[in-house]
Amino acid sequence: LSEQDIVTQFSAEKQQLKARLFANENPWGPSPAAKKAIADALATSYQYAFVEEKELSKKVAAVEGVQEEQILMAAGSSPLLQAAAIHFSKNGGTILTCGPTYDDLLRKSKAFGANVVEVPLTSDYKYDLDAIEAKIDSKTSLIYIVNPNNPTGTVLDAAKLKAFCTRVSAKVPIFIDEAYIDYLEDPKGATLIGNVIKGENIIVARTFSKLYGFAGLRVGYIVAQKSMIDILGKYSSEGAISAPTIAAAMASFKEQPYCGEIIKNTQASKAYLYGVLKAEGYDYIPSSTNFVMFPIKMDGKKFADEMMKRGVGLRYWKMNGKDYCRLSIGRMDEMEAFAKAFKEIS
Ligand code: PLP
Repeated sequence: LSEQDIVTQFSAEKQQLKARLFANENPWGPSPAAKKAIADALATSYQYAFVEEKELSKKVAAVEGVQEEQILMAAGSSPLLQAAAIHFSKNGGTILTCGPTYDDLLRKSKAFGANVVEVPLTSDYKYDLDAIEAKIDSKTSLIYIVNPNNPTGTVLDAAKLKAFCTRVSAKVPIFIDEAYIDYLEDPKGATLIGNVIKGENIIVARTFSKLYGFAGLRVGYIVAQKSMIDILGKYSSEGAISAPTIAAAMASFKEQPYCGEIIKNTQASKAYLYGVLKAEGYDYIPSSTNFVMFPIKMDGKKFADEMMKRGVGLRYWKMNGKDYCRLSIGRMDEMEAFAKAFKEIS
């Protein structure tokens, strides 16, 4: 099931949920400055936001240290993943990745005629860069890497990933999905935007949906070479981000105090979750993100259904023949609701 399917499936129960922990959202929401900006922007929202969208793009470029023509903005990063899926699936190209990973670009690529080759993650649940490199052939059109990875919450060694990208992007374009990078201790040190600046054939995707709490507001962007932006821009339409959302993004982008507060809240809820899992005799994959994956002791679907009956929405995976739960990090009241339900069924 995709994230979208899960939300639809749970739409009836959604209203009664005590803990909405299935979509890796930021339950503390957009910052107060963002909410004020939305309210302030409503009066002029009858106008098309051509100028404002350009201003946001300019701000993103300045913050990331790239040229404006190296940025493509969209209503969330999903439309940009779709643009890449359409382009790199042409002529039945092969898209290389590791699994399990975020499968939106991969599912769409298959629908557009690509051959998707997924190699397993390493034994420590990380992207296996060597295995990916070994699979490259003349049909490979794109390498897709999610870093930090969803659903495992693991992050690659930055120096190793950068060296891989420098070497491999000379042969094949690489798409790095950095949706969760803002949760790392040193996002600047981990991002591959520096490799784009060096002129490498890399596309970096970012979203406001996670740390900035914009999942329902919708802002995302990619950073790439101008020639790639020109190509992918053909599959994406300008003017898709609403004026109030643009105003909110301008107000909250890299707003340090608020981001710091969210990170602190996330860490506190995550530490609480680790404690609950340990106390119940469960292991977990140490997470660098706002979600945690852990092995469960019953069938994944049964686990998710039983938790849903108790008002807790989460997701399950099969990995190496074993059942796992992926739990998004929520507010403390949500984590407590999870703990209560979990103790009942585990
Ligand atoms: N990339 C990854 C790895 C994700 O987990 C998600 C959403 O959960 C997205 C991209 C899409 O996010 P959005 O379209 O909200 O920017």
